[in-house]
Amino acid sequence: MGPEITSATVRVIEAAGVDVNWETHILGAQAQEKYGTTLPDEAITSIRENRVALKGPIMTPVGKGFTSVNVGLRKALDLYANVRPVRALPNVPCRYPELDLVIVRENTEGLYSGIEHVVVPGVVESLKVITEKASRRIVKYAFEFARDNRRRKVTAVHKANIMKLSDGLFLDLFYEVSKEFPDIEADDKIIDNCCMQLVMRPEQFDVLVMENLYGDILSDLCAGLIGGLGLAPGANIGEQGAVFEAVHGSAPDIAGQGIANPTAILMSGLMMLRHIGEADAAARAEKAMLDVFAEGKYLTRDLGGTTNTADFASAIIERLAATESRSA
Ligand code: NAD
Repeated sequence: MGPEITSATVRVIEAAGVDVNWETHILGAQAQEKYGTTLPDEAITSIRENRVALKGPIMTPVGKGFTSVNVGLRKALDLYANVRPVRALPNVPCRYPELDLVIVRENTEGLYSGIEHVVVPGVVESLKVITEKASRRIVKYAFEFARDNRRRKVTAVHKANIMKLSDGLFLDLFYEVSKEFPDIEADDKIIDNCCMQLVMRPEQFDVLVMENLYGDILSDLCAGLIGGLGLAPGANIGEQGAVFEAVHGSAPDIAGQGIANPTAILMSGLMMLRHIGEADAAARAEKAMLDVFAEGKYLTRDLGGTTNTADFASAIIERLAATESRSA
């Protein structure tokens, strides 16, 4: 459902008054058919030159076939910081209506380094790579993010009791870097306990930093706490650029029906607007979106409503137009 939710988002961004000259590129299975590669150079070059992109979800075959384009893109552009805010929205039925935390996930290594091989038939190895360089920079990013966004605490999530070398290195660096930020509280949680604590008492968390796989899993868990994947946005940030995308995947069970919730990618698009200095337009679009939620009349099916993707976007655009004509 990538094109359905992405076009809804583009409509809202344009209605907010941002005149974007969009360059469109296809990635994944469709690009494979057209160009013979899932990640065409043109797309990478476009993002390198523009330094910013809005990306729909892309399918990755399970257990066979091509490797993940999403992981490939993050690695190709060294988009090392995956920032995923988790915030409940007004009027959306969920477990934790007050929840407001941020996951900062290392995006370039860990078990997603893609180094797998068959040792002998029936025995495979999948290597988890943790480096001092990548761990230090993601931890630093998390603390700087906390400081810049007036957050009080950063929690490192790990399994250093079992993976003493790899997660142990990550944890040691976390506490070393934390000393540069004495005004921000630093603590840590073992991943399994962290899952339980997130479900039982998520309000104790603020910013969470972790390696790749834990970040992937906790992102979906946290999306569940605020009403589902349709509401969880994200950004992949690096020195060479930034790619904004929802936490969720391509939702093949509902693709093509025009019923997906575009909120997650829309909120990713609003993060993009703020990233490029269009904070006013982002605030206007966000207010219109929050008004639509507060009114509760237009909700997509994942939230118990009947509104389709395009109509949900239209409701936000109408609010935007109404606000603008009032202030004109
Ligand atoms: P998924 O996130 O696509 O879907 C999980 C469930 O959540 C489904 O029931 C789906 O219908 C629902 N859902 C997700 N987004 C929704 C939305 N916006 N509105 C309403 N419902 C929504 O996860 P999956 O089914 O495990 O993965 C499907 C494909 O997506 C796989 O090929 C996977 O590799 C890929 N994927 C891509 C990304 C990405 O592009 N960054 C991320 C995760 C998964």
